[in-house]
Amino acid sequence: MSGPPEPLRITGPQPDAPSPYLIEPENLGELIPDEPAYRATQLAGWLYRTPVLAADAVSNLPTGIRQRFGSHWYPFDVEIEQSADGGRTRKWLFRGAKGASIESVLMGYPRRITLCISSQAGCAMGCTFCATGQFGFERHLEAGEIVAQVAYAAAHLRRHGMPGTAPHLADPPHITNIVFMGMGEPLANYRRVRESLRRMIEVMAIGARSITVSTVGVVPGMRQLADEPWQVNLAVSLHAADDELRSRLVPLNDRYPLAEVVAAARRYRDIKGRRISIEWTLIDGVNDTPEQGVRLAAIAADLGAHVNVIALNPTPLTADRPPGDDRVARFIEVVQQEGGNITLRDTRGQDIDAACGQLRIRAAT
Ligand code: SAH
Ligand code: SF4
Repeated sequence: MSGPPEPLRITGPQPDAPSPYLIEPENLGELIPDEPAYRATQLAGWLYRTPVLAADAVSNLPTGIRQRFGSHWYPFDVEIEQSADGGRTRKWLFRGAKGASIESVLMGYPRRITLCISSQAGCAMGCTFCATGQFGFERHLEAGEIVAQVAYAAAHLRRHGMPGTAPHLADPPHITNIVFMGMGEPLANYRRVRESLRRMIEVMAIGARSITVSTVGVVPGMRQLADEPWQVNLAVSLHAADDELRSRLVPLNDRYPLAEVVAAARRYRDIKGRRISIEWTLIDGVNDTPEQGVRLAAIAADLGAHVNVIALNPTPLTADRPPGDDRVARFIEVVQQEGGNITLRDTRGQDIDAACGQLRIRAAT
């Protein structure tokens, strides 16, 4: 970028200038019909290739265009920004149209920087242990609202850096992994999630293999995603290894029972040649028993999947608690002894989790 940006004077919202993220990158010219075509290409570059925090940081576009998008560069406002773990965990609560809450969390590790994004405001799936599920469904996020979370975090990272990361990641600082593990069930918002993936992969040039879609088991969506051209990773949130218990924790299990979910995961693995992840949130006395561990190991070994366990992050509306460290260790031991591949994920940025209730993230493998 050349020189400091000119100061901008923005006079309130301009309702006739929607965020350019809400329009397909190929059609940006429609927003600036009086400008030569190369301006739309430049605009796409600032939105997707070298994203900026605000329109006034764009250096090579005419002031008129910058002013036009001044207060609407992103399709949301930043309502809360929090930081923990010495700046290595950052959480944002964005506020989209119609008051929709959108949460993203950025986590820096020594050798990777993972961004967790949301696909819906709220969630209709009603998993008993999940704050988002307890909160209910608000609305689907638009493709632009999903991909703009990635752009915003990338811009923030470029502007503020990431302490404690390997030099090859920090210069320039960039996101290495994206996980759909924030609010919402991505495969229940298939069309928009698909378009957000297309933009990430084909426009932002993010490697499909560095993106993980996490699902609670929306079987038709798992099948559709398997038939897309991209080698995106799939994480399947199982939480229980028999239908009776799973239906209690994950109501969707009544519609798509365990065997169908596992079959769809197997098909995904066979088509993509990518290892599936199984997500398992440990709840004290509920799904942390040796019996569940044995059954889980059988499923994981058969699928060749990797299990990520995390201790429950308690939510206000249930009495569920995370197991103590000894029970967690015992569960992991059982799964390993039975031939399952398993890792315990730490809960990142717990001191900033309170407001969010759910975004207790682990990185995708
Ligand atoms: N709807 C998708 C993706 C978002 S939830 C899914 O369920 O996979 C992302 C992950 O967070 C899921 O594995 C979910 O089980 C887990 N999760 C939800 N609530 C949690 C809580 N209170 N503590 C720990 N993990 C939780
Ligand atoms: Fe929705 Fe996932 Fe939460 Fe279940 S765990 S309610 S699917 S966000």
